[in-house]
Amino acid sequence: MLDLDPSGRRNVWARVTQAVEQFTEDLDTLPVAPSSSPDEVRAALSSVDFAAPMAPEEALDLVVSGLRTHQVHTGHPNYFGLFNPAVSTMSVAADTLVAAFNPQLAAWKHAPFAVEAEELVTREIGIRLGYDRDAAAGSFTSGGAEANHTALLMAMTRAFPEFVEHGVRALPGQPTIYASSESHHSFVKAARFSGLGDRAVRHVPVDETYRLDPKALEAQITPDRKNGEYPFLIVATLGTTGAGILDPVGAIASVGARNSMWVHADAAWAGAAALLPEMREHFEGLERSDSITFDAHKWLSVPMAAGMFLTKHRDLMERAFAVDAGYMPVDDNQRVVEPHRVSIQWTHRFIGLKLFLSLLVAGWDGYETMIRNMIQLGRVLDRRLGEQGWNVVNQTPLPVSCFQDGRSSEGTSSDHMRAIVAGVEASGLAWISFMNLGGSYPAARACITNFRNSEGSIERLLEVLEQVRSAR
Ligand SMILES: *Cc1c(COP(=O)(O)O)cnc(C)c1O
Repeated sequence: MLDLDPSGRRNVWARVTQAVEQFTEDLDTLPVAPSSSPDEVRAALSSVDFAAPMAPEEALDLVVSGLRTHQVHTGHPNYFGLFNPAVSTMSVAADTLVAAFNPQLAAWKHAPFAVEAEELVTREIGIRLGYDRDAAAGSFTSGGAEANHTALLMAMTRAFPEFVEHGVRALPGQPTIYASSESHHSFVKAARFSGLGDRAVRHVPVDETYRLDPKALEAQITPDRKNGEYPFLIVATLGTTGAGILDPVGAIASVGARNSMWVHADAAWAGAAALLPEMREHFEGLERSDSITFDAHKWLSVPMAAGMFLTKHRDLMERAFAVDAGYMPVDDNQRVVEPHRVSIQWTHRFIGLKLFLSLLVAGWDGYETMIRNMIQLGRVLDRRLGEQGWNVVNQTPLPVSCFQDGRSSEGTSSDHMRAIVAGVEASGLAWISFMNLGGSYPAARACITNFRNSEGSIERLLEVLEQVRSAR
């Protein structure tokens, strides 16, 4: 029942690849975002009855039709959304192979090829981002949030060795974390789950371009320490989620060094830009960070969920995460890293294959060309928005534009900009999001991290924006 016979299996695989290819070819004719109501979606599921098993073909058709109809298509050429990727062909092949071969990467001996392939990719990316070949280490994670949580635990382990055995109760005072007011909210979650509490995260003021201000940072750390708190971690965000702001990681690393604090670079989406020589100036000092978050499932265009935690402190990973378990297979004869001893995860899926296979086929050159093109398209988007009377309010070399309506007296209001965004979404012709830059600039937001975005799709977006504006 669970394993079909060979001809049944062949039929299923054929139907699946057919559905995948058809979806990919039809993508630009589908609505970018559905207007599915809960009733409609539940109706699509109403024929489900686990007491009356279906034929495989029928079951597959039910799911393919549900997914085609009821989801935002992040790979659509007119999707300008939140870094959710269009997926590379090789990465889809990779995830398929992973499901079928199902390697268990918790222990090296169970899946040596997969474990070594993941190690190779994390090391190579770490080196490309600036770490020394001998030092670069890391692990694949479910995403940026888990990578940020990993960084927090590594920083805790270094600052408070007693934390590993005795937990936060053994600490002499409140440990504190510093990140800009524009940083990602996953640090608040990580602080909560680590027993530090939400308030351990101190939001540092930003300068007039929304970059973390290193002077304000130091001015916050010093009194906190005097008050008996224990500052231990600084986060530099390299590409904020909302507006693509790049914190000055070099200056932040200096503050970290002066205060003996861990410096973590959250480069979840924009880290990919650091692969380009001409963009390196914006990441100056990244090599001085203790760790980096880098999401393959954003700009590197592989399916969710694939994040990376990168560090130059290999030994500390083991100190932070190793728990002995007699039942785990070990290979005594070889010097290998046991994945379950160096990460939050235990069972570990072959997350890295989608990046490994994509990189094997596209090469660094292929990725660099793609990212370079999108950065240029981002400039086109900025310019064309300006020409159409939309005021771009964020300054960044990265391809994300936050804009207000320069042709309406309401153009800087939250209500107006939310209505513009909702109108675009409802059209089904394009997808952008809403954000509030610095809490005071309500704006529509479009980013170009989808390799199907083109000058044509930018023009399509501008047409839709114009229609929505003039209909108000
Ligand atoms: C997306 C993002 C995260 C969270 O990553 P997930 O992969 O969604 O868990 C963290 N930091 C930044 C800057 C991000 O853009």
